[in-house]
Parts: sequence; structure tokens; C-alpha cells
Amino acid sequence: MKAVTVRVWNRNAYDHTETFKGSKVTIPAHKFIEMDYDEAVLFKGQFSNPQFGKDMVQRPESYKWIEIDKDDKDKVLKSRGSDSGDETEKVFTCHVCMKDFRTKNGLLKHIKDKHQDMMVDKEAKDELLDNEDLE
Ligand SMILES: [Zn+2]
Repeated sequence: MKAVTVRVWNRNAYDHTETFKGSKVTIPAHKFIEMDYDEAVLFKGQFSNPQFGKDMVQRPESYKWIEIDKDDKDKVLKSRGSDSGDETEKVFTCHVCMKDFRTKNGLLKHIKDKHQDMMVDKEAKDELLDNEDLE
């Protein structure tokens, strides 16, 4: 199968460095690197050790917040003949545990249930807790 290169974005405000298949991969904050699509999927799914401060709040610089460029991904999927339409491909990923959700509400509900203690942005947290649609 022909290798297809995609852009892999670091959506975090901190550089992301991780050892992947024995070599050190760094994606600068808000930048991307190019990677073979299949590698990128593995890289994205690889567990990275979250680091916690002494108050058990995850340090924001240790969040893994990696995204495969959507346009590039669409191209790959199309070229592989698995073009199954946009909606089913639309996935919201929890950047804490890398679980995928089909809807934004599903993701928000999950964060509210599982990770609200990890939210470092007070404003975002208040917004989430005040959102009664998620009950
Ligand atoms: Zn999660």
C-alpha cells in the first residue's frame, strides 16, 4: 500500500514530545509535523503519561492533544475507497484519555463525568458545569 503523508497537529499550547517507535518525536505548540497516515493513527493512539501536580491537577503541558489534519485524513480515506460520508467520520476526541465520541455533547458529558477535576480552565469548567443539556 502506498504511504500517504498527513499533517499531525499539536493543538496544545505546549510542545509535545513523545517517544514513538524508539525515536523522539516533537511537535511544537500549535504546529504540525508530517507523518505516514497509519503511523499517525498509531502515534495519536499511543498512551502518553499524564503528569500531575501535587494537587492532582494534570499539568497542562502534559496533555496529549494531537489531531490528524481532517482534510488530509479525508483524502486518505477517499483514496482507500472508504468514503463513508462526513457525519460518521466526525469524531470528537477526549484529549485526556483519547476516547472518541460521535457528538460534541457526548464528549462534554464524558469530560463532565470523568475528568472535570482535571479541567484547568475555570471558565470552561464553569460553562460545562452550568450546561444542563448534559444532565
Ligand atoms: Zn476522557
